[in-house]
Amino acid sequence: MRAGYELVPLDCPSCGAAVKADGEDVVYYCTACRNGYRFAAAEKSLVPMEVAFVALPNVAVELYRPFWLLPATITMHQRDATGGGFRGLMSFFLGGDQQESSGGRGTFAVPAFHAPLPAVTTLVRRYTEKLPELGEKLGERLLGGRYGVGDAKKLAHYALIASEVERPDTLKQLRYEIEFGKPRLLGVPFVHRDAKLVDAIFDIEC
Ligand SMILES: [Zn+2]
Repeated sequence: MRAGYELVPLDCPSCGAAVKADGEDVVYYCTACRNGYRFAAAEKSLVPMEVAFVALPNVAVELYRPFWLLPATITMHQRDATGGGFRGLMSFFLGGDQQESSGGRGTFAVPAFHAPLPAVTTLVRRYTEKLPELGEKLGERLLGGRYGVGDAKKLAHYALIASEVERPDTLKQLRYEIEFGKPRLLGVPFVHRDAKLVDAIFDIEC
């Protein structure tokens, strides 16, 4: 039996209701009691997780998809300036005076579902730079979350660098570190537009 494909009991640990999940899901949300869990492979158990939903009144949302919210502290170790500062996600984390900055804080928002890498990169950048207003937990399904915390951290690193890729000279001399805080699950609204699935906030196709 391959790791990651074991069957896990999907009765909600809090209320006992059956939790709907796709076969490869590693995050779960109980629509009955509105508690979230992630599957911890090491313990082979469901670990409780905080959950939030993007508030979007006045929009007919078709479905919600799961994102990870990863609080992050970035520390710059080496950055030999070669003409200009960062323009992508790194500039967001470093804040105003980049040359003087030794790091910064923020919260990465990373899709937990599968999507093409360019779409993932765009989603990470937009939702990280401007997290929409969060509202109450909804009784909506959060399906398709097949990437765990470790994957989400790798995608955060990837998006951070990919958003700066126009400046390869800078990147060669970049050494940094990210310390991640406690992950949360985020429900993001999606709608169909011209037969394509897009997120309801930034209209990013995925
Ligand atoms: Zn429950």
